[in-house]
Amino acid sequence: MYIDMDAYFASVEQASRPYLRGRPIAVVGGGKRAVVVTSSYEAKRLGVKTGMTRGEAARKLPSIVFVTGRNDKYVDTCVRIHEILLRYTPEVEICSIDEFFADLTGSLLLFPSPADVAMTVKREIGERFGITCSVGIGPNKLIAKIAGESGKPDGLVVVGKEETERFMEDLPVESIPGIGKKMGTALKALGITVCRELRAFPVSVLRRRFGIWGDYLSIMARGMDPFRARDPGELPKSIGHSMTFEKDIGDRMMIRARLLELSGMVARRLRKERVVAKGFSLTWRYPDFTTFTKRITLPFYTPGGRIIYETVTGLLDSVRLKDAVRLLGVSAFNVRRSTASPPLIEGFDREERLWKAVDDVNDAFGEHSLYPATTLLCARRHWVISPAYRPGKPYPYRR
Ligand SMILES: [Mg+2]
Repeated sequence: MYIDMDAYFASVEQASRPYLRGRPIAVVGGGKRAVVVTSSYEAKRLGVKTGMTRGEAARKLPSIVFVTGRNDKYVDTCVRIHEILLRYTPEVEICSIDEFFADLTGSLLLFPSPADVAMTVKREIGERFGITCSVGIGPNKLIAKIAGESGKPDGLVVVGKEETERFMEDLPVESIPGIGKKMGTALKALGITVCRELRAFPVSVLRRRFGIWGDYLSIMARGMDPFRARDPGELPKSIGHSMTFEKDIGDRMMIRARLLELSGMVARRLRKERVVAKGFSLTWRYPDFTTFTKRITLPFYTPGGRIIYETVTGLLDSVRLKDAVRLLGVSAFNVRRSTASPPLIEGFDREERLWKAVDDVNDAFGEHSLYPATTLLCARRHWVISPAYRPGKPYPYRR
């Protein structure tokens, strides 16, 4: 079961401030250059879109009401929704601040059908928080998500195993999570617009064009989920982060600043998973969507963000970029569990202690409360947390 809140930030605001109900509102970050993070359905209907600046939104719709986002409120509601879902199954995955996957396989001994659970959950979330959500049910996460998206807002769509093929057939390829506008265009150039055509397309050609994503595309077009959930206790094969930029970046200084940010994010994940890695890779994508990856294996394992940063900038220096980049990614692979060992490098434990302190601050006050000053070179994306933000389980954040 996939559950996604409808216009989440805007719905939470409308639910907690009755005078906003039924009005077109846009949740924005602070500051002059704030952009719309989420808008209510009333505003969406009249053309206000995520990513518009305040000015653009106001020109489009003069009656719009701007509301400054309140991260703690959204995180808090997310945690409470999570608690509700945990009453139906212990297998709940928070996949972003307003999206969850719940494995109902074991719950069906207690409830007549998955649709039954979905209706109960929808009613409960509606009564408690005054917000609506869309639910999709399918034989795997991929189908559940596509089903959920197809029923927005306030929908409930059930796709059985036998119906999967028929359900997918005429869907535009952009309905597959991970296929954005640009990749949709690239696929269209190959004569592919709906999933049926993608399924019939030779995977070797897709692989040549999109790398490993070519394989994923082919698998997903068959209604199968290429991303298997990891068993608890199993080590991750790799840990990576990537960013797609609103504007392509050509300036090396800016690329370096982004790599510092990405390296920091990877290092934080390594520390959270209590692992170290010795393989690192840098991925970059040009505006025409061609994608390259360079990898290197170090002679030693490390959890260190600075070492990761130096390694990937080393990789960057070894290539001549032929164009600006639209995406950058940093990954760690060749991972093993970290063991406490005496520091071999002078001052290494000092840095470790520093990062431990930074992690503690960010755990307590929210992601990005404390970060390296160099990353200030990058325009902050927005001040409201990104919807992809995922709170850790026991969330200690109380301001
Ligand atoms: Mg949502």
